[in-house]
Amino acid sequence: MADTGVVLTEIRKSFGNLEVIHGIDLTITEGSFVVFVGPSGCGKSTLLRMIAGLEDVTDGEIEIKGRNVTDLDPSDRGIAMVFQSYALYPHMSVRDNLAFGLKMARTQASEIEARVKAASAILKIDHLLDRRPGQLSGGQRQRVAIGRAIVRKPDVFLFDEPLSNLDAELRVSMRIEIARLHRELGNTMIYVTHDQTEAMTLADKIVVLRDGHIEQSGTPREIYERPNNVFVAGFIGSPR
Ligand code: ADP
Ligand code: MG
Repeated sequence: MADTGVVLTEIRKSFGNLEVIHGIDLTITEGSFVVFVGPSGCGKSTLLRMIAGLEDVTDGEIEIKGRNVTDLDPSDRGIAMVFQSYALYPHMSVRDNLAFGLKMARTQASEIEARVKAASAILKIDHLLDRRPGQLSGGQRQRVAIGRAIVRKPDVFLFDEPLSNLDAELRVSMRIEIARLHRELGNTMIYVTHDQTEAMTLADKIVVLRDGHIEQSGTPREIYERPNNVFVAGFIGSPR
């Protein structure tokens, strides 16, 4: 399937002698929204970081859009990652924060301007372009962080618990924003969370991880109504 979004084949990861990801196979359909859930330490971030290329795989293969990217640098994979910590440059304006990665990649100035304009319109941060991160609310900062991913026009967006630093009210509105973004952009999105509501509302497909393996995957409804076992039920399933 040449047009398939992301394919993981027998992915393993060891830190020293300790294997923490135990041979994961997963096919992520192009354009779908996939959510990784599971308890702290089960390997969600490690798996995402391997897809991003921020962490080497110990074994296995990663394909993005039919291309083997296993040994490629992060910048050559067609991905962009949004982190939980906003990691914005405090001394730069929002505009320059958005443009920075593109400038580094020697994108033409007119193209940078067009992309910054488009991304800030999508995220409704056009009026904030001249401010610095310190003059923004938490939600606005997180929008800028997402904007930095959008301007790169990635094939795949990777999110690692992007909302967990926000208060409950803001989490809800940003979750709705991210769902809207997925509808508008149509990209493949892979999203890590331990928040059941985020998983249920955002996902086309939920992947439940446990101790470095996939315990169950399926649509939110399948997982909720037919959890394979008590562990999955405890995370997503209906009470029983
Ligand atoms: P999660 O994101 O689901 O909380 P992680 O992917 O961060 O889990 O961690 C999975 C396992 O790998 C944990 O046991 C963690 O301690 C271990 N781990 C993660 N990163 C490293 C590292 N750089 N060195 C050693 N062990 C690590
Ligand atoms: Mg993590």
